[in-house]
Amino acid sequence: MELDSDEAVTWFTSEKVRRPFLEKLHPAATIRPCSYNIVVQFIPLTFRVDKALDLRELEEVNGLQSRVINRVRWIKPVARRHPSQTCGHIILTFSAPSPANDMLVYGLFICHKKVYAEKCKKEPLRCLKCHNWGHMVAECTSEADVCGTCSQHHRTADCDNTDHLHCVSCGASGHSSWDRSCPVFQCKCKELNEQLEDNSMPYFPTEEEWMQVKEPPKTVFVMQPPGPAAPAGGKTMGFRQTTLPWASSRRHEQGGGAWADQDGYQSQHWHSYE
Ligand SMILES: [Zn+2]
Ligand SMILES: [Zn+2]
Ligand SMILES: [Zn+2]
Repeated sequence: MELDSDEAVTWFTSEKVRRPFLEKLHPAATIRPCSYNIVVQFIPLTFRVDKALDLRELEEVNGLQSRVINRVRWIKPVARRHPSQTCGHIILTFSAPSPANDMLVYGLFICHKKVYAEKCKKEPLRCLKCHNWGHMVAECTSEADVCGTCSQHHRTADCDNTDHLHCVSCGASGHSSWDRSCPVFQCKCKELNEQLEDNSMPYFPTEEEWMQVKEPPKTVFVMQPPGPAAPAGGKTMGFRQTTLPWASSRRHEQGGGAWADQDGYQSQHWHSYE
C-alpha cells in the first residue's frame, strides 16, 4: 500500500481508521509493516541467529538503535550444511530503510569479523511443489510432489537420489531446480530486473538523494563454450550482465553444494507478496 503524504500515513496508522478500512477490504486482511532485507555473506557459524541477545549486541557494536533489526536467519537451512563448513550467508531484516542503507554503505561487524552486505533483490517466484514459475504451493494445481533436486515424484526433503541432479525448469541433468546458475532462472531474473526499478537500486530509496541512485549493470566473467580460436589480440573472454547479487561461483566457498535452496532465499525475497 502506498500513500502520498506523511499526513496520510499518520491518518491511516490510527487504529480508528485502519481497523474499519481492513474490515471492509476483507475480513482476513492484515497489514504487515515494510521490511528491508540485506544479505551478508561469510558469517562464522558461531553466530547465534536465534538469540535476541546476539542481535542486540550486533546492533550495539554497529552503532544501530536497539531493535531496528527484526530478524536474522541463515539462507541455507542448517540441516544442509556441509560438515567442513565454517561460514554461511545470512539475511538481516531491518524495520527501517536508513539503518539498512548504512550497513550497505559501511559494512558491519559480526563476531569480530568485518563483513559487507548487499540489498536483497526480488527474484522470480517458483513453486516449491511442482517447481514451475509464477505461483506458490498454495495455488499449485499439480497433483504430485515433484522433487526439486532430482525431478522424481517425491518431496524435495525426502530425496534419496541426490547424486542424480535434474532441473524441472530447463529439463537438463547436472543441476537441481533450485540451482541459481540454471539458465532459465537467470533469464527469468533478467526479465524481472527489467520490470522492477527497485532491483537496479543498490539502496532502499528514502527522501535522501544518495539512497535513490541506480547502479550500473554488473558484469561477470562467464566461460565461453569451446569454439574457433579468437583472433590474435581479440577478446578471449565474454562478459554479460548478471542478475545475481554476487558471483555464483562464490557458493563453493561455503563448503560445497548450492547455498540457496528452494525454501530459503527465494521465499524470503517474495515474503511481501505472500
Ligand atoms: Zn506448483
Ligand atoms: Zn529427489
Ligand atoms: Zn535448469
